[in-house]
Amino acid sequence: MGNSNEETLTLPTGKTIKIQTGLFIDNEFVESVDGKRFVTIDPSTEGVITTVAEASSKDVDLAVEAATKAFSNVWCHIDGKERGKLLNKLADLMERNLDDLAALETLDNGKAFSITKTIDLPEAIRCYRYFAGWCDKVHGKVIETQNDKFCYTRNEPLGVCGAIVPWNFPISLMANKIAPALACGNTVILKTAEQTPLSSLKVAELCKEAGFPKGVINVLSGFGSTGTVMANHMKIDMITFTGSTEVGKSIQKAAAESNLKRVLLELGGKSPSIIFADSNLDTAVKFTFNGSFFNHGQFCVAATRIYVEEHVYDEFLKKFKTDAEAIKIGNPFESKIYQGPQISRKQFDRIMSYIKTGKEEGATLLMGGERHGERGFYIKPTIFTDVIENMTIMQDEIFGPVTCIAKFKTIDEVIEKANLTKYGLAAAVFTNNIIKAVKLSKEIKAGTVWVNQYMEGDSSLPFGGYKQSGIGREMGKYALREHTQVKTVQINLETNCN
Ligand code: ADP
Repeated sequence: MGNSNEETLTLPTGKTIKIQTGLFIDNEFVESVDGKRFVTIDPSTEGVITTVAEASSKDVDLAVEAATKAFSNVWCHIDGKERGKLLNKLADLMERNLDDLAALETLDNGKAFSITKTIDLPEAIRCYRYFAGWCDKVHGKVIETQNDKFCYTRNEPLGVCGAIVPWNFPISLMANKIAPALACGNTVILKTAEQTPLSSLKVAELCKEAGFPKGVINVLSGFGSTGTVMANHMKIDMITFTGSTEVGKSIQKAAAESNLKRVLLELGGKSPSIIFADSNLDTAVKFTFNGSFFNHGQFCVAATRIYVEEHVYDEFLKKFKTDAEAIKIGNPFESKIYQGPQISRKQFDRIMSYIKTGKEEGATLLMGGERHGERGFYIKPTIFTDVIENMTIMQDEIFGPVTCIAKFKTIDEVIEKANLTKYGLAAAVFTNNIIKAVKLSKEIKAGTVWVNQYMEGDSSLPFGGYKQSGIGREMGKYALREHTQVKTVQINLETNCN
């Protein structure tokens, strides 16, 4: 490994971590062809952490060349069991380096270290292990046709998968993207988000240490323009993307206009959480609170439209507000912190502008709505009430610690309101009445419906959106279908066919 782009970072705790800041292509960390670099910012201080190499189209070409060679010459010929061993080895190394990986994620992203260590990292590790188990179980079927024909299908890899991820869960989204692609025999080029390149570069180091062959995993730091090059690339066979609906649409368009590459899109959301009077209210408050404010509201399934049945509305609101007021906000490396800074100045300004619009459009600001502290991109947990469906804050994905709470009277009314959005990623229903739970789960147009819980996920569960929340399903065995193509083989068994 060339050490020319190795940096030593000092954490606020005083601990130092060595990191490679180049582009990871063909198992080496290299400078970009043009020598360009960009800064990554600590959102809790607004100061520069370090610089990383920026991939241009020339670097994408080099990564594609490496990934294509690795696919044809090595990876798709390796026995599934061996691929599984490598994914498990990577998971082992991540466990061994848990503290450093969690610290890098916290430094770059601003999420609480205690949460990164106990949620983000374990989730990513579980994902690698889960897909390691599938590596030797991706197979086709025998299909009975006529007696003198023998027909079977093969589930073959697509080739080179480009993965483009956002900044809100860098290390776990890296796992969600690359583990299924690799399990199915594809090679990958991951483009990290410009705000959070660091943890994935550390994982790239571990990929090499785990023994993945050259070119199987490539990691590029860069902006949206690097992603655009990938989406348009004639030799990339699939783009798996998580991010905004707007960018998702541009990727689908680029895919159609280039080589008709496959797309898997996990996009925005504006998820309703519906609380009936017959639910356990403390459970509803606990889950919906976390559903709203976890990760500082920066997640696509955030519960940002909370509907509460009118007779328990006041009680719910009181309890929910009490919990929101107790949120510990501040330096993400301090213990017991729940909320760190938003990711960037741009996001901070965007969220504050939504708060302003909410007030202007007539919603009641129950709490929050302003900056926390003097330095860093911190915003106080914010609750709006007296909201109606056509308000901007009830329609747009805000991606911040801002939630809206409304009352409802009837089940039909709440179903209609819950569906009044262009998104359809997730929803939650709180009730002790199984009939209501089943009815709402059926009627709400969303890829995931939680009942009496929020945000519980598992690598084995399919995840994806209805409507403009996405195309396709990640995770579980559904992900295998997305990352393979089916070949039909039909053999003539007539004895006189030659
Ligand atoms: P966010 O608004 O949360 O940053 P984006 O959808 O803008 O979400 O970005 C998610 C990821 O997509 C990032 O890695 C970003 O660099 C990349 N990206 C942004 N614009 C484009 C684009 N036009 N084509 C491909 N990738 C893009």
